[in-house]
Amino acid sequence: MVELRNVTKKYDNGTLALDGVNLKIEEGEFVFIVGPSGAGKSTLLKLLMKEEEPTDGIIRVNKYNLNRMKRRQVPYFRRTMGIVFQDFRLISDMTVFENVAFAMRVIGCSKKSINRRVPYVLKLMGLEHKMQNYPNELAGGEQQRVALARALVNNPSLIIADEPTGNVDPRMSWDIMDLLSEINKRKTTVLVVTHEKSLVDRLRKRVVSIEHGKIVSDRMEGMYR
Ligand code: ADP
Ligand code: ADP
Repeated sequence: MVELRNVTKKYDNGTLALDGVNLKIEEGEFVFIVGPSGAGKSTLLKLLMKEEEPTDGIIRVNKYNLNRMKRRQVPYFRRTMGIVFQDFRLISDMTVFENVAFAMRVIGCSKKSINRRVPYVLKLMGLEHKMQNYPNELAGGEQQRVALARALVNNPSLIIADEPTGNVDPRMSWDIMDLLSEINKRKTTVLVVTHEKSLVDRLRKRVVSIEHGKIVSDRMEGMYR
């Protein structure tokens, strides 16, 4: 599903952001990626989304070998994953409905399927009463759930979330983790980058710790493998 083999990323300025990373994530897993600022977490996500290229090593995501992927295949590849950005990246002059519908429109879904699917996903996120609001009319946690709805709407096999609880209060953080767990129960692989130790400590999930570009531990919270 997701596999990195001996992956190294050295930026042009000489920074070694990832150093010989080996990681395998099976279909349907829920994995936290944790580590201090500058550890290489965002770099790892960028490599998985093919926003950056590795300096060395092999990366596979879903059925794709990212090393061999042609430029024109990248948009198709990205459609197999749902991405939740730390800063939400909602479109401010579109309503909540339109923000989520847009993700379906760009892949050519029919109006009929959009009108059926978007309200369904927004209801799952508890946002059915906010469909006609604009992002700036929403609380932080609500904006985050719109971002989740948009990431989910095309039924991706992999969801990648970068600090999904970064800008919301602790209760909302729990709600978002609950939603991600629900999504995971429907067989979607979930990969969450976070620095919130309290969340990770209380959920029984696989936790991969990165420091200085290396994986320093990989374990199930609450039991050692
Ligand atoms: P994290 O997400 O864990 O905070 P990053 O992956 O953002 O870590 O950064 C890892 C290291 O790579 C840091 O030293 C950072 O300064 C560096 N880095 C990140 N992006 C770039 C870039 N585009 N160019 C040069 N160095 C970068
Ligand atoms: P928070 O507690 O996260 O700061 P807010 O005070 O921003 O939350 O929002 C509380 C509620 O009021 C939310 O449900 C939000 O959607 C609604 N809200 C906030 N600002 C507006 C607005 N300009 N128009 C409509 N609803 C709003």
